[in-house]
Amino acid sequence: MTSAQTDARELLRGLTGGSAAGEWSAPGRVNLIGEHTDYNDGFVLPFAIDHRTHVALGIRGDAVIRVASTFAADAVEVRVADLPTLFPSKGRVPEWAAYPLGVAWALAATPGASIAELSGVDIAIASDVPIGAGLSSSAAIESATATALNDVWQLGLDRVALARIGRTAENEAVGAPTGIMDQMASMLGRQDAAIFLDCRSLDASVIELGFDAAGLEVLVIDTKVAHSHATGGYRERRASCELGAQIMGVPALRDLTVDDLPRAAELMDDVTFRRVRHVVTENQRVLDTVRTLRTDGAGAIGELLLASHASMRDDFEISVPELDTAVEAAMSAGAVGARMTGGGFGGAAIALVARERIDTTKDAVAAAFAASGFTAPTMFTVTPSEGARREA
Ligand code: ADP
Ligand code: MG
Repeated sequence: MTSAQTDARELLRGLTGGSAAGEWSAPGRVNLIGEHTDYNDGFVLPFAIDHRTHVALGIRGDAVIRVASTFAADAVEVRVADLPTLFPSKGRVPEWAAYPLGVAWALAATPGASIAELSGVDIAIASDVPIGAGLSSSAAIESATATALNDVWQLGLDRVALARIGRTAENEAVGAPTGIMDQMASMLGRQDAAIFLDCRSLDASVIELGFDAAGLEVLVIDTKVAHSHATGGYRERRASCELGAQIMGVPALRDLTVDDLPRAAELMDDVTFRRVRHVVTENQRVLDTVRTLRTDGAGAIGELLLASHASMRDDFEISVPELDTAVEAAMSAGAVGARMTGGGFGGAAIALVARERIDTTKDAVAAAFAASGFTAPTMFTVTPSEGARREA
């Protein structure tokens, strides 16, 4: 049993004095490639990781929902009857609690749910997904809570529906305008595989990664530079993408290909054009990565990862010096490929590295950070893992 699972169980015991009616968990994710393509109706290729958020849930005799987390000082309580009007509203619950309560709120609004019949619950949460590192602790907490409540409230929603619930919670209860990739990866993840997701149709297919067979590992380099999706840069990038699509007369940037770029360059200002060019070329890189994985294997995707990073650094302008340093140092230590991952403005980079070179790569990155006077990064390898599940 993992320690986060034990922690959730003990947190619940401290809260209620009793044991859990059930335990659930959901993973964080790493996006292999396809950044800022999700809200442009495009393609992404994330995989669920072996870091999970655990929920231990107790059934209550009254119609109250209480959420607690090892991450937060105090438990938060709301009445089931108050769920329908709980969101959107600023500040009625602490921000962290808007994630699990936002999920409860969104689930309570589904056609199969009747407020009068939803049982009160105590939800205790513990996680070993690093928070705010770009590994989507947010999707992990949403997916774990959604999976737990879907079961105990007997709502019968499928995994894709639960992913949508998580996004609704994040967009409307938390107020972070993120796409659906993270929740889909956390809900649908498989061992040794990535999820190739069409963010328009939500068609998802499982793509074997074969990292193990190729002798490769994914090293996560958490720069510790704090990022926040709820603020400035992310909204601005989304607005630029919407403007670009509007200028080109298409519903979303997904509807453009690299052949449309010369015309885009003529029609829009330089900044908007470069935002558009990132999204259009990134969509193509996701398709190329899927094809390359199938034909030549994981050892052959390095160039695509690097091109993705360059596009985010130069065209989308969401990298920071720490992320660039991580990528450059990993590459000079012999990584197959590397790129920043997640929404940007901080967070983590990933490097695809031969197993026997993991230690030298870590050393090289640590040395490069020290030489630049950056805070030492946290580094660890991640394994493509299973999505949300009931544990017990
Ligand atoms: P990321 O998803 O990259 O980790 P986000 O800013 O999207 O970063 O989400 C992090 C936020 O999600 C935290 O600040 C907190 O509000 C909430 N959160 C994530 N995990 C937990 C947890 N285990 N307990 C309480 N809140 C959590
Ligand atoms: Mg997040």
